[in-house]
Amino acid sequence: MRRKLAAGNWKMNGSPAALTDLDALADAATGDTEVLVCPPATLIAQARARCGAIAIGGQDCHSATSGAHTGDLSAAMLRDAGATHVILGHSERRADHGETDALVAAKTVAAWDAGLTAIVCVGETLDDRDAGKTLDVIGAQLAHSLPDGATDANTVIAYEPVWAIGTGKVPTSAQIAEVHSFLRAALVQRLGNETASAIRLLYGGSVKPTNAAEIFGVTDVDGALVGGASLTADDFTPIITALNMA
Ligand code: PEP
Repeated sequence: MRRKLAAGNWKMNGSPAALTDLDALADAATGDTEVLVCPPATLIAQARARCGAIAIGGQDCHSATSGAHTGDLSAAMLRDAGATHVILGHSERRADHGETDALVAAKTVAAWDAGLTAIVCVGETLDDRDAGKTLDVIGAQLAHSLPDGATDANTVIAYEPVWAIGTGKVPTSAQIAEVHSFLRAALVQRLGNETASAIRLLYGGSVKPTNAAEIFGVTDVDGALVGGASLTADDFTPIITALNMA
């Protein structure tokens, strides 16, 4: 039985004042659903101190443990600040910072070594989808971004179609089901049934209170990675509640 996960990605948004919203989320974080918030790294320690009922994560880490990498953070630094998870390979990092699958894999190893759970993101562009390449692209990203050694404790996979992130566009339930079932099968082939069946698969891309229940009804959707709608408790709480009820 996989524990459901509602993960919020604040991206480059938020302030100390915004952390008050975590109190309301903590009330919703009861039952079978784990709630994770990934604020900007500068807020991780304050978020951790404020709210024990919610897991706190980072949005990226370096692949090295230390060294001459101005502006970067190691996985251990995130952990020491109070993070238990880190998002890796988000399409915005792949686009803004040229992150390759190989780099995402190296970061994933670094996260594991620091004791963090890596949320490894994969997803096709609209051009990929229109060209009928969705599963090929996602299969390649998974194969090369996920190093050997994945378990349900150290890894979560997030399917995030690039064209659905921040756009208000959402794939149909059938399209989400197709990709999630493909991801599960790819994990089974690589890791064996027992490990693969325990790894959580999140959907991400314009999840809102209005569409959450339908998305969470799709087979093999174990939760969501939520951007814009995770920024306020008013929006994120009903998504958590929908996941609790799914
Ligand atoms: C994301 O950035 O991971 C995301 C899914 O964003 P949004 O929910 O705003 O589409």
